[in-house]
Amino acid sequence: AFSSAPITATLFPGDGIGPEIAESVKQCGYIQIFREAEVPIEWEEHYVGTEIDPRTQSFLTWESLESVRRNRVGLKGPMATPIGKGHRSLNLTLRKELNLYANVRPCYSLPGYKTRYDDVNLVTIRENTEGEYSGLEHQVVRGVVESLKIITRQASLRVAEYAFHYAKAHGRERVSAIHKANIMQKTDGLFLKCCREVAEKYPEITYEEVVIDNCCMMLVKNPALFDVLVMPNLYGDIISDLCAGLIGGLGLTPSCNIGEGGIALAEAVHGSAPDIAGKNLANPTALLLSGVSMLRHLELHDKADRIQKAVLETIAEGKYRTADLGGSSTTSDFTRAICDHL
Ligand code: NAD
Repeated sequence: AFSSAPITATLFPGDGIGPEIAESVKQCGYIQIFREAEVPIEWEEHYVGTEIDPRTQSFLTWESLESVRRNRVGLKGPMATPIGKGHRSLNLTLRKELNLYANVRPCYSLPGYKTRYDDVNLVTIRENTEGEYSGLEHQVVRGVVESLKIITRQASLRVAEYAFHYAKAHGRERVSAIHKANIMQKTDGLFLKCCREVAEKYPEITYEEVVIDNCCMMLVKNPALFDVLVMPNLYGDIISDLCAGLIGGLGLTPSCNIGEGGIALAEAVHGSAPDIAGKNLANPTALLLSGVSMLRHLELHDKADRIQKAVLETIAEGKYRTADLGGSSTTSDFTRAICDHL
């Protein structure tokens, strides 16, 4: 009984705990959450292949990439890159092939789940394609290696534009550019210059620049000082995990990757958790809230609100919580409790 025509989205259940937490999300059986919320999504499911696809040079097939390109939206579970030579990392393949240039991670205190802070409500936006992660490393002579940090005007403007656009669209008031331009004068200097240029087009949004070391100190002392943070790749990788820690850990935090041409690939930030895989112990919250990010990207805000509310109420109630949140519920019990809240 969908109220509108279904939207097709790609689903990568992924590895390890991926299929278990994807089970909580996808439409299959009666108790699954997206079904209960009458979300008009039809999942096109894709698994990581068992052989290297020569067209992608990785275990991700060309058909999987085509599926995301066609649907423009998708949800991705964690992927463990198989060890061995001659192929690209799965996450890197997705990032490069789909040009996923910005990683967006909302991070807010969950009501009823006590951590050191009650008032975290920030969003980190990480440049996802260059910086220290350009993969350009080599040995100069024995005992001396070199790594190139690439910052381009094009990628910096693109992520800054996205950050300000996001801030405006979500009623946020401030964008902080995180940098180390006092030392990395050319690279971070260019990044800041681009942020400043974009900031001028958004006079209604306060713009500030914060040095990364000071930013870390401020985040652990008083995270409520921040609203939207935009930064180059490596800083974003570190700061976004730091922020996940502020609100209770990796099992909770969603993210969404934004690509060229409006592609959105939402994903949980955690890995495949091999230590608990196959045991029905994983917390599906991060993937569920990533699905919520995807729905928001599709402007299905009422559906997104319903699911988000049910997840947060279930955690707040405290009767059903998975082990990472100090409870003893299984993934499926927790999922059922969320369905009851829906
Ligand atoms: P991990 O995130 O898989 O696990 C770290 C710890 O957090 C483990 O103790 C795990 O049990 C726990 N944990 C993570 N997610 C949880 C959840 N939803 N519920 C409850 N507990 C959870 O990190 P790792 O062990 O460093 O990595 C394992 C594999 O995942 C590696 O192959 C790595 O490359 C891959 N990885 C993939 C992604 C991705 O696909 N985006 C991200 C990180 C790591």
